[in-house]
Amino acid sequence: MNANAKSILIIGGGIAGITAAVDAAEVGYQVILVEKEAYLGGRVMQMHRYFPKMCPPTCGFEINVRRIKQNPRITVHTLASVEEISGEPGNFKAKVKIDPRYVTGVHAIDDSIAEQLQSERPNDFNYAMENTKALYLPHDMAYPPMYVLDREILSDTDVERLKHICPADTIDMEMMAKTLEIEVGSVIIATGWKPYDTTNLDSLGGGQFQNVISNVMLERLIAPGGPTQGKIVRSSDDQKPGNIAFVQCAGSRDENHLAYCSAVCCMASLKHVRYIREQYESAKITVFYIDIRTIGREEKFYYDLLEDENVSFIKGKVAKINEDASTKNLILDVEDTVSGETLHQNFDMVVLATGMVPNGIDFELPIDLPVDDYGFLIGEASAEGIYSVGCAKRPCDVSRSTKDSTAAALKAIQQLNRGD
Ligand code: SF4
Repeated sequence: MNANAKSILIIGGGIAGITAAVDAAEVGYQVILVEKEAYLGGRVMQMHRYFPKMCPPTCGFEINVRRIKQNPRITVHTLASVEEISGEPGNFKAKVKIDPRYVTGVHAIDDSIAEQLQSERPNDFNYAMENTKALYLPHDMAYPPMYVLDREILSDTDVERLKHICPADTIDMEMMAKTLEIEVGSVIIATGWKPYDTTNLDSLGGGQFQNVISNVMLERLIAPGGPTQGKIVRSSDDQKPGNIAFVQCAGSRDENHLAYCSAVCCMASLKHVRYIREQYESAKITVFYIDIRTIGREEKFYYDLLEDENVSFIKGKVAKINEDASTKNLILDVEDTVSGETLHQNFDMVVLATGMVPNGIDFELPIDLPVDDYGFLIGEASAEGIYSVGCAKRPCDVSRSTKDSTAAALKAIQQLNRGD
């Protein structure tokens, strides 16, 4: 190891960024991990369980947090973004902007304080299916385990109220954003993904019908920390759905939306079918698909469900979803490509298996790098000394993301040691 090696900058503190950070730091390299949210863990933390093992992501996350806390070589900045990168491989300069949290950490905060506020904001961790108070802990496992204040939506009354209910120095209303200038030798881009916006899917009722939800929303419904404390219920009446449809490729593999396969949504839906079967033994489930894409040993996950008499798989594209205004049930028009029939079927709830969009389309990259037509970074190494991983470069699952990250950590280390 080069004792004078510069740090590695990792942009994105989801599972891909965390993996690269601990891998590089545990072999002796300095890492600066920058995450735009108030907590580490990224999209994976919103999942109830991983496929195919069906274990909760929180177990692996706890281990990673312990590895981060124990390793003085990892510096974490949350609520932070990299605004600019200049320089050359082995010798980059970066500007990191850190937004204010308004919570100082001097005194502990708990929900008994937050509950006294009236100002509320959509709970984005639960995909806006409920609200949080303006002062909130992003989720139960948040690391760092610190509250955040949404200063923009805080009413004047609540500003005054906070002064009375918190010890002095708990909240700093004047906290400002700050910019750090850092020198690093290599950069890993792990900016991750977001779900495709279902409101673009007019014909499928996305954002229009209460009982049409997305696959990521279902993950939060089943989660104990979700808006229904783990119960899968219809949004219109809080009733248990007896008859549920999954619409695969909702937006993906469609020139009008996402022209690519999002890689994970077949496996995700198969996992969701299991969630429902575990919770409601008698529920009937129909999966409408173009192809079921499972890879390697994951195929068994699918074959096992083919044996379930309460689960039907129909090869056909869902052309249109209508709502029965009185019951809020959904009527699906489907072209069954095997029988050639046009089906009209009635369901209590519909889950759209929406795909992945790279987060990179929402912001300007801090350095000019090649991206494809959909915003994914092109190539293993996007530029010398800069490496993209996971869903920043193509849709992929957690397992493939973390393998990318380990490889990128090695390449970043090699870059630091060039020229010794
Ligand atoms: Fe469609 Fe499955 Fe590909 Fe997702 S993974 S886009 S549901 S084929």
